[in-house]
Amino acid sequence: MKNTNLLFYRSGYKAKVDWGRGKVVVVPPRQVDDDGQGIWFLPPRERPLRGLSSRFANLRNTKKKGFKADFESFVAEFGLLGILGLPGNAYKSPMYGESWEEEINWWLHYASEVYRLLRLYRIIRKARNNKDYDAEGALEEILVFKQAYKISYTGKLQDNSQYIWTEHKEETPFVDAVWTENETETGQCFPETTPPIEAASYVLISIVSRNLAGGIILGKGKVVPSKKSPMGYSIVEQRYTNYLLAAIYNDLWELIRDDQPVNVCGYSGCTNIFVPQRKTGEYCSDACRVASNRKRKAQAQKNNGQ
Ligand SMILES: [Zn+2]
Repeated sequence: MKNTNLLFYRSGYKAKVDWGRGKVVVVPPRQVDDDGQGIWFLPPRERPLRGLSSRFANLRNTKKKGFKADFESFVAEFGLLGILGLPGNAYKSPMYGESWEEEINWWLHYASEVYRLLRLYRIIRKARNNKDYDAEGALEEILVFKQAYKISYTGKLQDNSQYIWTEHKEETPFVDAVWTENETETGQCFPETTPPIEAASYVLISIVSRNLAGGIILGKGKVVPSKKSPMGYSIVEQRYTNYLLAAIYNDLWELIRDDQPVNVCGYSGCTNIFVPQRKTGEYCSDACRVASNRKRKAQAQKNNGQ
């Protein structure tokens, strides 16, 4: 597995969940050392762990057992997402920025989007590797394509010099890609002849790259003298971010770029998505492996008893 090419600078603030107010809030003071003369040493930059996007995505399900504990431990480990609100529509990038508190709803909004994107990626990858796989059937659970209409108005002048407007809805040769879960727009539209899997790949890549916009800074990494380069130096590119949400989308971007597999947990009581550590990894956690074995044994005993 390739290493991530992202450096994450944390704010130095810890955060916690305030369930009563429905917010994730900063916990002062700033976790920094100073040199005795008021100059702060910020925490060292770090390379986020692979699998950050799937861990975040699994926070989406508020009904899941252990939801609160999982949410709290993620917040305690990583701090705030680094957003100032939710964008007004599906065509906009996240509102990256630093604040003192974030609504839990914003977290759930992005966790469920990252989850849907990971599911899409898994379907697209599986469709390519397995010809017998019913990719279009699986796709419908995540993404649907709806007829796009052209809406226009004509006005008719009345005797009182006011207009009466009539709406006209015309079918177009295009379809809108819409999330199945909540029927919200993805912001992507296609000619109706586009094969669904092809359209799904496009939706995936455009949303991930749009959500990196404004969150990632591209800079220079190592600079070494080189005779081959016209500048006399070879420069390694380095990505930086101050925002956890951008690090999450970057993780997703790198998963796709490196063609890493993602799995859905094999335990029937769990729908978590995860990056398998070994090729055989079937469960998202040891807890799910144990729960699944227990269930299988209980089932076997029941069958023997009959
Ligand atoms: Zn699981």
